[in-house]
Amino acid sequence: MIAYLEHFVHGTDKESRPDDDFVVGLSEALDLQGTVDCAPNGMASKDFGGLQSVKPLALIRPAAADDIARVLKAAARSSNLTIAARGNGHSINGQAMADQGIVLDMRSMEENIRVVRSGNGSAYVDVSAGALWEDVLKRCVLVGLAPRSWTDYLGLTVGGTLSNAGVSGQTFRYGPQTSNVTELEVVTGKGDTLVCSQTENSELFFAALGGLGQFGIITRASVVLQQAPDMVRWIRVVYSEFEDFTRDAESLITRQEDDSFDYVEGFVFVNSDDPANGWPIVPLDPDQEFDPNQIPATSAGPVLYCLELALHCRNSDHLSDVDADVDRLLRRLRFLRAFKFQVDVPYTEFLLRVKRAEEDAKANGIWDAPHPWLNLFVSRHNIVDFDRVVFKGILSQGVGGPILVYPLLRSKWDSRTSVALPESDIFYIVALLRFNPPPPRGPAPEELVAQNQEIIQFCSSRGFDFKLYLPHYKCQEDWKRHFGNRWTRFVSRKSCFDPLFILAPGQKIFSRNP
Ligand code: FAD
Repeated sequence: MIAYLEHFVHGTDKESRPDDDFVVGLSEALDLQGTVDCAPNGMASKDFGGLQSVKPLALIRPAAADDIARVLKAAARSSNLTIAARGNGHSINGQAMADQGIVLDMRSMEENIRVVRSGNGSAYVDVSAGALWEDVLKRCVLVGLAPRSWTDYLGLTVGGTLSNAGVSGQTFRYGPQTSNVTELEVVTGKGDTLVCSQTENSELFFAALGGLGQFGIITRASVVLQQAPDMVRWIRVVYSEFEDFTRDAESLITRQEDDSFDYVEGFVFVNSDDPANGWPIVPLDPDQEFDPNQIPATSAGPVLYCLELALHCRNSDHLSDVDADVDRLLRRLRFLRAFKFQVDVPYTEFLLRVKRAEEDAKANGIWDAPHPWLNLFVSRHNIVDFDRVVFKGILSQGVGGPILVYPLLRSKWDSRTSVALPESDIFYIVALLRFNPPPPRGPAPEELVAQNQEIIQFCSSRGFDFKLYLPHYKCQEDWKRHFGNRWTRFVSRKSCFDPLFILAPGQKIFSRNP
């Protein structure tokens, strides 16, 4: 079997492709329940970013964890085969790809989403890692429960977001998704299938959380649940001054639970009528209107800021009580009083809000265009300078899509996981979610990548306390800098769980084929 693989991996003729006999041979030799595709079409060599494309040797659709273990054991016996788990391929820079390696389509694993109530009244959902968060939501709300911590968009796999962090407007309270997992099943790079938690195989548990797929393939996760609300009061308020915006946002994320909202996010928008970047993106309902005459001429600059908030409600709550709660919470904030937009929506509709944007973007061809996105964590100590130079300067015309900016609390992140964070107690996530039409209708992706580099360069040259989220580097020196004093731990975990550097080659941290 290994001879089969090696012939194609480092055969002299890189152009030769495996034939049908190879497929049958590989599948039989490994005794897989799932299937092997040795001429994978676009899916395995594409991702949402649309910036990279490499050809894998094969795409395997594992049926269960056992298939994954067999493939990893076989790879360990080869001299240079690499393996990448592919969640839903929503990475930007080829992180789930394997050049001449094997891609494992995690979505094909049998989907298992099981809600478990424990004796003490708490509950969790036991879920296969290839499941989409959207399906986890739909299953859990059937029994009145839901995970506590989300991403904005739910067309992502459980294993994919847990390999990064998983951040949204609930993170300030519950931490990222990686802080809301009690147990994982992981197949390590050596092909060992282990159950791990804070108390059992804990080094593997924390390594895999935020581990960029480097230590093992997550096959199952237990995710903490809470009671699901029925409805959400969804609110947007507008600021002209960045200092007021950050002061209010930081105040909301540090208040007691009963004295704040259940969701806190924010975004920057252009002070113009530009339909993709300006005033029209703020109202929550087509009936609401953004009246630019109300913007104070003295203080407003090229961009404005929107705080996005949500309060959970139950069907049994009286509307007047919800109004009173919201008024009480908003009273202390310094937003421009003329700009307050709100709607009441069912909880699932709120969590699936980006799906509507996805449908629109698909209809006008920008969902499948390249997405040179940039995600950063920037310390609160540097965010005002960042605003001055980046939001008001470099990005003053917008990015063709949302520019998210909202604060998070470091204390809600477990420092034993593999995620690299700024040092500051409060840091902001900044997400440039570029949605441009493909060239020639839109800008060349290379120009946008260069703009991202300019922003990173600015942060580095000023000595900002910042990190890339969903990081992407091309050489190990940059990865060392990214992990800083955590690099030694990262390397030692790698040598423990994937000593042959088989896993997630698309991250370009370690190389099996130097
Ligand atoms: P993939 O892109 O397929 O994989 C990502 C990495 O994880 C790869 O290295 C892969 O090899 C590895 N991997 C995948 N599955 C496993 C597994 N089971 N075990 C081990 N390693 C694995 N992120 C947020 O935090 N918050 C958001 O609100 C948010 N919104 C987004 C909206 C959109 C439209 C998009 C495109 C992305 C968004 N993201 C967000 C980023 C997203 O969390 C990451 O891109 C994530 O990696 C995507 O999950 P995926 O299932 O597509 O993973």
